Amino acid sequence: MHSFRYHDGSLHCEGVNLERAAEKYGTPLYVYSAGTILDHYRRLDAALSEIDHLICYAVKANSNRAILSLLSREGAGFDIVSGGELFRVLAAGGDPRSCTFAGVGKSQEEIEYALEQQVLSFNVESEAELAYIDRIARSKGVQAPIALRINPDVDAGTHRYVSTGRSENKFGIALDYVAKVYERAAQMPNIAIRGVQMHIGSQITEAAPFAEAITKITPLILRLRERHPLEFLNVGGGIGIVYESSFASGSGDWWSEKDRVRATTILPLTIHDYVAAISPPLRAIGLRVLLEPGRLLVGNAGVLLTRVRYIKRTENKKFVIVDAGMNDLIRPALYQSYHEIVPVREAQDSAREPVDVVGPVCESGDFFAQDRELPEMKEGDLAALMSAGAYGFVMASNYNSRPLPAEALVSGEKSALIRERQTFDDLVRGERDAVF
Ligand SMILES: *Cc1c(COP(=O)(O)O)cnc(C)c1O
Repeated sequence: MHSFRYHDGSLHCEGVNLERAAEKYGTPLYVYSAGTILDHYRRLDAALSEIDHLICYAVKANSNRAILSLLSREGAGFDIVSGGELFRVLAAGGDPRSCTFAGVGKSQEEIEYALEQQVLSFNVESEAELAYIDRIARSKGVQAPIALRINPDVDAGTHRYVSTGRSENKFGIALDYVAKVYERAAQMPNIAIRGVQMHIGSQITEAAPFAEAITKITPLILRLRERHPLEFLNVGGGIGIVYESSFASGSGDWWSEKDRVRATTILPLTIHDYVAAISPPLRAIGLRVLLEPGRLLVGNAGVLLTRVRYIKRTENKKFVIVDAGMNDLIRPALYQSYHEIVPVREAQDSAREPVDVVGPVCESGDFFAQDRELPEMKEGDLAALMSAGAYGFVMASNYNSRPLPAEALVSGEKSALIRERQTFDDLVRGERDAVF
């Protein structure tokens, strides 16, 4: 579900009129709904109530400290992939002892920092990394808690850039080899085996691959349990969300029964379906369960607000040139992803025309939609790029020397600026003339 609705002809996020937000904070502007994020977290938490579990929000999806703080207050743990993300969690008041530390290329400084902060577990992706962590833990006189990341070699049917659970991906340790690595880990004096981890990919829109992966590693986990003190199974994240037509039926709430029927034609996966599919194999294993959802919690909770700068007509196209670019939201260029685009001022009639919505960046890949049927848009109009809450701002760059956009968080009738728009001074901060 999300909380973006038209009231009196204007798109609102919860109780906040997005026209007002754009005037107040400028555009391009990311706007997030706190209510939506909390609702998603609580639904997942409630659906898992029968199972001993900890939801570790994947910080990389959206790492603004206001959002981390929101989830931390709700009792979430965090899945981090860098020292920088650990720093953010701490800055937001999160508990490092509820953090799982993932990533294939952890540095010495990052490992030391995570040991000092006593993270819950390192998700270890190779033997080389295991030996490295053991050595650093020894030099600090501590034990490093670890889970090996198993690559279950299942096809999650997702985009090849976000698939991680196949044998050809760089992630994890092969299923038929991982038992040997656990034996080695058990011999290492400064390694404490705590669990097993996997993560098969992102934007997965069916429940079956999740259940299949758990079922596939179950015999191995039962064998490992006899030899090692396993405390948890971490099933990773990857739950997909609706990107298309999240809005079409008006209410935008596909978790209600009415919309569920419609949603199943777009996306067969809901929190209920996901939990129903993974619960039986998880119960059979009987370990504490860690989950690392990112996109599910924040994806539909955010939009990127942009203003139309120019309309440009060529012989066979109409271009709507907006003030947001691929540097602000790179998903369409990087993953060919679809973002629904809606006018902030509600369309008065049902007329639609095919347009390309493009940004100002000097790249042909800088588009948000091509030949999309949209209501007529004019210069100065505002549009919302929907479902931009995950992998949006966090992937933004200064390409073309464009300052990073601002971010705002909405709760009920109130909005707060949670990140200032960058200035030109920010662009050159830290740069120096060469002095030889
Ligand atoms: C990216 C990532 C996640 C989160 O993925 P989502 O698709 O956003 O749920 C979780 N765990 C690991 C190890 C990841 O790399």
